[in-house]
Amino acid sequence: MVSIAAADLLNVWERGRAEPPYVRALRLLAAALPDATFESLADWGLGRRDAALLTLREQLFGDRFNAVATCPECEARLEMDFSTADIRVDYATDELPPISHVHDGHVYLVRLRPLTTHDLVEVAADPVQHNLVRRVTLDARRDGAPLPVNELPPDVMAECTRALFECDPQADVQLALTCPECGHRWEALFDITTYLWSEVETWAARTLREVHLLASVYGWTESEILSLSSTRRRAYLQMAAG
Ligand SMILES: [Zn+2]
Repeated sequence: MVSIAAADLLNVWERGRAEPPYVRALRLLAAALPDATFESLADWGLGRRDAALLTLREQLFGDRFNAVATCPECEARLEMDFSTADIRVDYATDELPPISHVHDGHVYLVRLRPLTTHDLVEVAADPVQHNLVRRVTLDARRDGAPLPVNELPPDVMAECTRALFECDPQADVQLALTCPECGHRWEALFDITTYLWSEVETWAARTLREVHLLASVYGWTESEILSLSSTRRRAYLQMAAG
């Protein structure tokens, strides 16, 4: 993973403003991974994608997260401070834990791969459950013999769907929270794409303001200003402010 130049990150931000979160996630990674294309990234499992986004986040903005949650019981505000290491999961990315299910005296065994961005896009266009499960099934068996996915009983199908959304741990990071006021405990989903994108938006607004100030004072072009290191940019901003 390479660090993204300021000009490239601004381009990603500009294009991504009108795009859905899954496209933003892949655009950020495509800018940081020169050997990967947008299309090839769309075939990554969501956990692998989110692990790479965590690494990118460390490069861009460091490894500490600060966030605020509201207690669902008493509405107290809870400040959270954690690091990328706290939410990084160590696991194999190419296959989910197998699903074993007994139904009407038959033993069903299904092996699934993790969901990818491509799957989410296809499923949004065609939300039929067994089409989704068929896409991601590596192998399905009844009593040891291969079985077409559309012959899986409904409860096995439901189990497969549940596993898809819950068994890719890096794609489903839950923060365990305890309210300091009332002691209520709950879990909150942490979505790295949402968090990182909001930081990119804040960064872009500040960077454009800096370009504006330096261009006004020194007459430099946007690309000249963006090619300065952040240390030099800050130094010139201080001098410009007098
Ligand atoms: Zn509370």
